[in-house]
Amino acid sequence: MYNPIMNIISEERLRWQEPLSLHTSFKVGGPADVMVFPQSIAEIQQLVRVCRQERIPFIVLGLGSNVLFPDRGFRGVVIKLGQALKGWHISGNEINAEAGIRLAYLSKKAAANSLSGLEFAEGIPGSVGGAVIMNAGAYNGEMSQILSSVSALDRQGDLHTFQLEEMAFSYRSSIFQSGEWIVVSALMKLSSGKRDEIEARMREFARLRREKQPLDMPSAGSTFKRPSGVYVGPLLEKMGLKGFKIGDAQVSTKHAGFIVNCGQATAQDILDLIKHIQQRALAEHNIRLEPEVRIISETIDNY
Ligand SMILES: Cc1cc2nc3c(=O)[nH]c(=O)nc-3n(C[C@H](O)[C@H](O)[C@H](O)COP(=O)(O)OP(=O)(O)OC[C@H]3O[C@@H](n4cnc5c(N)ncnc54)[C@H](O)[C@@H]3O)c2cc1C
Repeated sequence: MYNPIMNIISEERLRWQEPLSLHTSFKVGGPADVMVFPQSIAEIQQLVRVCRQERIPFIVLGLGSNVLFPDRGFRGVVIKLGQALKGWHISGNEINAEAGIRLAYLSKKAAANSLSGLEFAEGIPGSVGGAVIMNAGAYNGEMSQILSSVSALDRQGDLHTFQLEEMAFSYRSSIFQSGEWIVVSALMKLSSGKRDEIEARMREFARLRREKQPLDMPSAGSTFKRPSGVYVGPLLEKMGLKGFKIGDAQVSTKHAGFIVNCGQATAQDILDLIKHIQQRALAEHNIRLEPEVRIISETIDNY
């Protein structure tokens, strides 16, 4: 089934039965049939075309900081971008960045060039591609405020450019979450500022994160999206769920909005804990909590 892929990608950039736990910030997830580390956009195009022809399911992974793969892993190809597509350049107030680059690294580069607008990204452990998909944000900033355009491949491998108004951004959501697109690059428009002030804001955000978030434990950040007018952490705390555990998955004792892996958690522990929290929030407060974490199935039929 996977032979045609071996004709495109050289052996050293293919990993068979690769544990997804090694590629996710939750540190859970079973094996992917094959993980591919493409080197270029052209290679991704070839790859998706072959996957379609051969009816092989595939999924794109950035830095794995907002995903939950099942314990049984993924039947198909995981296209891992984090090690490639790392190009970026600054021209005037604009940064053009490929999808695989670390967003927080880019925010440091922006600051060093006295460009303001990416300070919120300090401490967000994802890639540019993942941040676009998720409309990642913090401290009153989010990707949609700085993006001008995004280039993405469709499932036939053809390249499209989306202008801001075409990307349907809303809170932690974008058009790309349909799973039909592979984001390959993003153009961001920043504004000029004073380097020391920009860096001071970033230091403050980093301090707030260290103070409030369980950064020393595996997690995927906030587990749930924030329902209008409700802060999830304080809500779960009020419900007595802070510290509540299923298996080795725990509602963080430091920030109840995070689920953490205490060491040996399985994906099923985390899923069961998510479900338990959702049921109680609905029963006790009539609040529907929607996961922000992307829950991936073992099989998808997307070729
Ligand atoms: C400690 C911690 C703190 C966090 N704080 C924040 C925060 O403050 N704000 C916030 O918004 N998030 C936060 N997050 C969550 C996470 O870092 C962001 O959602 C981030 O943008 C995800 O990027 P990623 O590259 O890790 O995406 P991944 O987790 O790899 O992928 C996320 C989803 O996007 C898809 N995807 C990834 N890249 C591409 C691509 N190029 N093309 C198509 N699909 C793609 C994946 O298939 C998956 O569905 C935090 C996470 C942790 C662990």
